[in-house]
Amino acid sequence: MDFLKELKKITSDILLKKEDLYVYAHDTSQNPEELILPLAVVFPKNTQEVSKIAKLCNEYKISIVPRAQGTNHCGGTRPVKNCIVIHFSKMNKIIKIDKENLIAEVEPNVVIGDLNKKLDEFNLFFPPDPSNMAVSTIGGAIALCAGGPRTFKYGNTKDYIINLEIVLADGTIIQTSKNVAKNVSGYNITSLFVGSEGTLGLVCKAVLKLIPKPQTRLLTLAYFDNLIDATKCVNNVINSGFIPSTLDLIDKFTIQTIEKFNPCGLLTESEAMLLIELDGFEKCVKYELEILKDILEKSGATSIVQAKNDEENENIWRARRSAFSALTQLKPNVITEDIVVPKSKIVDFVKKTQELSKKYNIIAAIMGHAGDGNIHPNFALDLENEIEKNNFEKLKDELFFYAISIGATLSGEHGIGIQKQKYLPLALDKNAHNLMKNIKKLLDTDNILNSGKSI
Ligand SMILES: Cc1cc2nc3c(=O)[nH]c(=O)nc-3n(C[C@H](O)[C@H](O)[C@H](O)COP(=O)(O)OP(=O)(O)OC[C@H]3O[C@@H](n4cnc5c(N)ncnc54)[C@H](O)[C@@H]3O)c2cc1C
Repeated sequence: MDFLKELKKITSDILLKKEDLYVYAHDTSQNPEELILPLAVVFPKNTQEVSKIAKLCNEYKISIVPRAQGTNHCGGTRPVKNCIVIHFSKMNKIIKIDKENLIAEVEPNVVIGDLNKKLDEFNLFFPPDPSNMAVSTIGGAIALCAGGPRTFKYGNTKDYIINLEIVLADGTIIQTSKNVAKNVSGYNITSLFVGSEGTLGLVCKAVLKLIPKPQTRLLTLAYFDNLIDATKCVNNVINSGFIPSTLDLIDKFTIQTIEKFNPCGLLTESEAMLLIELDGFEKCVKYELEILKDILEKSGATSIVQAKNDEENENIWRARRSAFSALTQLKPNVITEDIVVPKSKIVDFVKKTQELSKKYNIIAAIMGHAGDGNIHPNFALDLENEIEKNNFEKLKDELFFYAISIGATLSGEHGIGIQKQKYLPLALDKNAHNLMKNIKKLLDTDNILNSGKSI
């Protein structure tokens, strides 16, 4: 094939054997009905190579699937017919940390956890914290606008991207801004690429905003006899005049599953638990802690437990982050949803999820960033079992329609990819959806970049 001959001229770092390509047919999302193999997987070393590859693909009308670690839940890295995969694993350098200007310049495949370890040396901090930050990358986080428990206080990925080097579908290389904190010279195209799921451009470099690392972190676990008290407590905390760095909610089943597979002393008989972390100067944190304890008691917490030191703090977070892998030990497939509801509707939504889980006999473990109303029901099931599979489809339909009816949106941080495409029109204003399609057409006329995903 002429295309592959030309591709090999640009890079010798290329996989073509069926057994190698098979690995790239999957990501963390549920297994596709039909497994599609890419024509090739390439590992470019720099922006110029990416640009040449894009230009060639555009010429031959071959789709490009950008891929980092493949840990997304939405099928965003699944191959489509007649595509190649661009794997960014060779573009993984921290180019510069500039303490004076509070920025870092990085290649896309820098792992978020590794970046924060390096930033520790400078007493700096990059707040976006997807639970799997030990493996997930800056490029993946930019493409999905990833967040995590800390989003409540610090915002998500979009709030920390200052400038991007992007390769467009036709190979053109652009810088979206300057390396400065503010810029309204022209449109804010930096943000256009954040959350665009690799459908508008390929991220080849990112300039990140950094902030000083908080001196102290203090984690409090508050247990409740019922979900209503726990969610009311979230609002009581928010209305008290300070912002904890996390306000995460976990239901009984999730507490029990975490404790079963990664024991860390959680109280498994409680109906709900809040993980509330305070951070900042030690004196401020201690002051806020007194106010927090008072609110928790008045809100009906049955038990309040304080992590004694950084090590215990980290152990509890590690256990919380392991919830997904703990669930995979119950059933072969775990599907994580990512609904954002108005905070006043958290209880309704959690109850509806529990009701549907019973009705369709599908295990649901519910957790979420309650401070943002971003709830993650995790469904554990066996997709090879036709009854469970069909029941899950019905459950999902009912849950998503219900979510939309209470003013929710369908993804807060995991993206649409292939998995949620069917439901996307429900979540978007029709004219806004058309505008998005027109932007895609303008930037990628032949639908080369991550075709078949998102909008
Ligand atoms: C256990 C677990 C926990 C998780 N917890 C969270 C969480 O707390 N918060 C959260 O937000 N998410 C979470 N996620 C999902 C999350 O969206 C992804 O894990 C992560 O952001 C994707 O990173 P990745 O490096 O694996 O990217 P991939 O999965 O490889 O890619 C993600 C998307 O980015 C695109 N892409 C990759 N690189 C580029 C590039 N250079 N240019 C353009 N497009 C690109 C891909 O095409 C794809 O659409 C979790 C996932 C798992 C498995």
